[in-house]
Amino acid sequence: MTTAENTVVTAPVTAPAAVTAPADGEAAAATDAITPDDKDWTWVLERSCPDCGLDTPAVVPEEVAGLVRANAASWLAALDAEEDGLRRRPRPDVWSALEYACHVRDVFRLFHVRLNLMLDQDGPLFPNWDQDETALAERYGEQDPRTVAAELAEAAEILAGGFDRVSGEQWQRTGNRSDGARFTVASFSRYLIHDPVHHLHDVTGVPAA
Ligand SMILES: [Zn+2]
Repeated sequence: MTTAENTVVTAPVTAPAAVTAPADGEAAAATDAITPDDKDWTWVLERSCPDCGLDTPAVVPEEVAGLVRANAASWLAALDAEEDGLRRRPRPDVWSALEYACHVRDVFRLFHVRLNLMLDQDGPLFPNWDQDETALAERYGEQDPRTVAAELAEAAEILAGGFDRVSGEQWQRTGNRSDGARFTVASFSRYLIHDPVHHLHDVTGVPAA
């Protein structure tokens, strides 16, 4: 289980599951294990993502609100599908569309909290968020897809509204992750939008660019 903040919110869950000999009675749990991905994804601020195709450094911060809304609309379309398919993991160690949607909804919520922290405080330290722990604790795979779709749409609109209200020098306000990564509101907005775009690509296979 990861605890480091540097797992943050952009880690796609695609690493092969660790092969371990399950103890008696633990075989089922081991089969469903998602391998925590603790890579630092701040590199997406420096270059295009080879997986989803998003040219994150080229994203214009003032356009992120619109990108959040467009991304949410794509998620709603993806979630308007047969429920068994949404719940099905393509591999035991890769999240289902429903689990990714839950993650994106929670990313939208988390980044709204962090955006407000940056606007309200000088150089705040973000509280930790462990995405893998959250997925287990909140039972992502058991949530209702229609409820998740509605919650994702609402969270996206609230976050987009938050970015709509950022202006002028506010884009240069800063915030800090506990692993030392430092963001301005501008870089934070670029970093944010890569996550739901990347995971939409994980689910639909459609490139961002
Ligand atoms: Zn990507």
